[in-house]
Amino acid sequence: MNVWTPAFVGLGSNLADPSRQVEQAIGELGQLPGCRLVSHSRLYISAPMGPADQPHFINAVAGLLTRLEPDRLLDALEAIEAAHGRTRGGPHWGPRTLDLDIIAMGQLELATPRLTLPHPGAHERNFVLVPLAEIAPACWLPGHGRVADLAEAIGDSGLGRLAKGRV
Ligand code: AMP
Repeated sequence: MNVWTPAFVGLGSNLADPSRQVEQAIGELGQLPGCRLVSHSRLYISAPMGPADQPHFINAVAGLLTRLEPDRLLDALEAIEAAHGRTRGGPHWGPRTLDLDIIAMGQLELATPRLTLPHPGAHERNFVLVPLAEIAPACWLPGHGRVADLAEAIGDSGLGRLAKGRV
């Protein structure tokens, strides 16, 4: 793409020093060709969504400008996940060293076998909406509404913010 599009990436980790995984990945997003890291939220801690017998997750959201096509951005995110030792095939919503999701790209609405935009779970997860509202409160999540309103409606139950200065 020749135009730069805003893209928001959700980060999560609950294995192998999760805060470090997320902090490093934020830095790596800024190094991707065709991408500029514009902002990122602080780190949050959340209860696991799937099986409860796993560590809490560390979450954050990064704001990029990108000129990559959506599929190419997903390729790049999968390469970062793999470099962090992410293995696939474990239980659904099980523990992982690094999970990167595209929350949204501009106002694009997309449903392909590989990629759904906005991310289908984004509007119902406070560990996505609250950090997203920290960096882009006025952003409109296509099909759902204004990020600050969505975050306020969902609340911050079960979500904690790590002390300032971690990233
Ligand atoms: P997971 O990494 O377990 O959260 O799920 C990744 C799978 O979700 C991959 O097979 C992707 O192709 C698919 N997927 C669909 N929409 C998205 C999105 N917006 N961001 C990241 N992965 C997505």
